[in-house]
Amino acid sequence: MKKLMMLTAFAVPVFLASCGGNQKSAETADSSATPSTETTTETAPEAATNKVEIVANDQMKFDLSEIRVKAGEEVTLTLRNVGTMSKEAMGHNFVLLAPGTDVTAFGNEAMTHKATEYIPAGNKAVIVHTKLLGPSESDTITFTVEKGEYEFICSFPGHYASMRGKLIAE
Ligand code: ZN
Repeated sequence: MKKLMMLTAFAVPVFLASCGGNQKSAETADSSATPSTETTTETAPEAATNKVEIVANDQMKFDLSEIRVKAGEEVTLTLRNVGTMSKEAMGHNFVLLAPGTDVTAFGNEAMTHKATEYIPAGNKAVIVHTKLLGPSESDTITFTVEKGEYEFICSFPGHYASMRGKLIAE
């Protein structure tokens, strides 16, 4: 009786370990996951919508890395900052950049424009931008873009490296 219990107790960790580390079971999991991955890929190109909500957080992330909109039609975009850190420490904005913009160069320039909330005045790369948002704030902007691929970033110092994505107008 005692021996049986010990065996059972022993068998469980071994099973878990082989499950996590065994190459074969990992491959099995992969191949069985493939069909669902394909399904996800097929449904991924979501219909372009011109009503967009994008969320920014304290982890220096946007919740969207790709936005698809209809070209030539007005887009309404709302940025929400769901973070709790102060605007001075973790402010966020949404800046849509003209195609071909050097994002790194722009980001480096933008961070020197604190007085204008990190938007370099008169910079032609900026198509449209929201206000710089503190915790629990939101801002809605409207704009119309031609067909093409655009990049968007948060221009708060240091954020553009992780807070950036693509807006595709089709
Ligand atoms: Zn930010």
